[in-house]
Amino acid sequence: MLNLYSYSLNKLEDKMVSVGQKKFRATQLFKWIYEKGVTNFDEMSDISLSFRETLKKEYCLEIPKIFTKQVSSDGTIKLLLELNDGNKIETVLMRYNYGNVACVTSEVGCNMGCCFCASGLLKKKRALTVDELIGQVLVLNNLLKDEEKRVTHVVVMGTGEPFDNYDNVMDFIRILNHPHGLAIGARHITVSTCGLIEKIRDYANEGLQINLAISLHAPNNELRNKIMPINRKYPLDELMDAVKYYEKVAQRRVTFEYILLKDVNDSKECAIELANLIKGTLAYVNLIPFNPVNELKYKRSDEKRVHDFMDTLMKRGINVTIRKEFGTDIDAACGQLRAKHETQI
Ligand code: SAH
Repeated sequence: MLNLYSYSLNKLEDKMVSVGQKKFRATQLFKWIYEKGVTNFDEMSDISLSFRETLKKEYCLEIPKIFTKQVSSDGTIKLLLELNDGNKIETVLMRYNYGNVACVTSEVGCNMGCCFCASGLLKKKRALTVDELIGQVLVLNNLLKDEEKRVTHVVVMGTGEPFDNYDNVMDFIRILNHPHGLAIGARHITVSTCGLIEKIRDYANEGLQINLAISLHAPNNELRNKIMPINRKYPLDELMDAVKYYEKVAQRRVTFEYILLKDVNDSKECAIELANLIKGTLAYVNLIPFNPVNELKYKRSDEKRVHDFMDTLMKRGINVTIRKEFGTDIDAACGQLRAKHETQI
C-alpha cells in the first residue's frame, strides 16, 4: 500500500498523470486530506466512484500511533509515537503566546554525535519518510481539534539531523507550506542543522522563505571539534562561508543556537570570540539553557553566567535572545523520552 501522505503536491501530480488520471486530481486529493482533514476515501465526493475504489485498494492514509503521551503543567505535550516498523520517535507541542509549535523528529536516532545531546545516545537507525514527518503534525492537529486549535508553527529540531534526510524533509516542508496542504507560512517553519554545509547551500538555492537555525555551540574549532564531531568535517570557516552564501542567496538571516554548558563554552572569552566570529553576518544568537541529560556529564550554566554572556554579545551589537523552556517536568531534553523508553526495555 502507498501512503497518500508521502507525496508533495508536485509528486502527487506526477503520480496521477502516470496512472492516467488528470493532473488536478492531485489538488483535489490534497484539499481533502489536508484542508478538510478527511481520512476516508468515501467522503471525497468530487472524485469518481471508480477512482475512489482504486484509491481504497492502493492507498492508505496512515499516521504514527501514540505510544505514550505526557502533558506538562504548562500545556506542553510530549508524545512517543510508534512507527509501522515498531521504531519510536518523539514529537513535542509547545504553546507560545504567538501559536502552537510542533517540534518534529527527522530521523530515528542520530549519527552526529554531539556530546551534550540525548538523541545521539541512540545511533541513527533510519531516516523518516515523508508520511512519518507530516504524520507527526497531523497527530498533534488531531489532539488539538478538541480545543479548536491547530499547529501554527513547525520547528524541525527533534531527534536527528534534518539535512541528513534532506529530500524527505524538503517534501515535508512543501506539504506544510502549500496553501492546499497544511498552509503553514514559510516564516513559521524553521529547520535546524548542526552544519552540513553542502546542504546549507542547497537549501539557500531552494528559494523558500523558511527559517534556518544553525547549532553552533562553540566559537572556535578547538572547542567545537570536541563537543560536535561534525566540525572536524565542516570546520567553522567553511560553515561561516556557507552561512554568508545563504544570507546572500536566500536574503534571509540565520539564527545561531548556542547551548550554555557550565565551564565549557560559557566564559566571557567565549562570548567575545563568538561576537567576533559572527560579526559581518546578519545572524541572531539564541542562547539555550542546557537540559541536563542523566547519562552526560555536562551541567547548565548558572543564571548570572547566562546574563553576562548575553550582555557581552549585546554590547558588541549582536542580536541575542534566550530560549524559553517548556515541559521541564516531563523529560524535556531532546531525545530523553525515547532514550528512557529504550533503556527500560
Ligand atoms: N540536528 C539538528 C536538529 C536537532 S537538535 C541540529 O543539530 O540542530 C535541535 C537543537 O537542540 C540543537 O540546537 C541541539 O544542539 C539542541 N540540544 C541538543 N541537546 C540539548 C540539550 N541537552 N539541552 C538543550 N538543547 C539541546
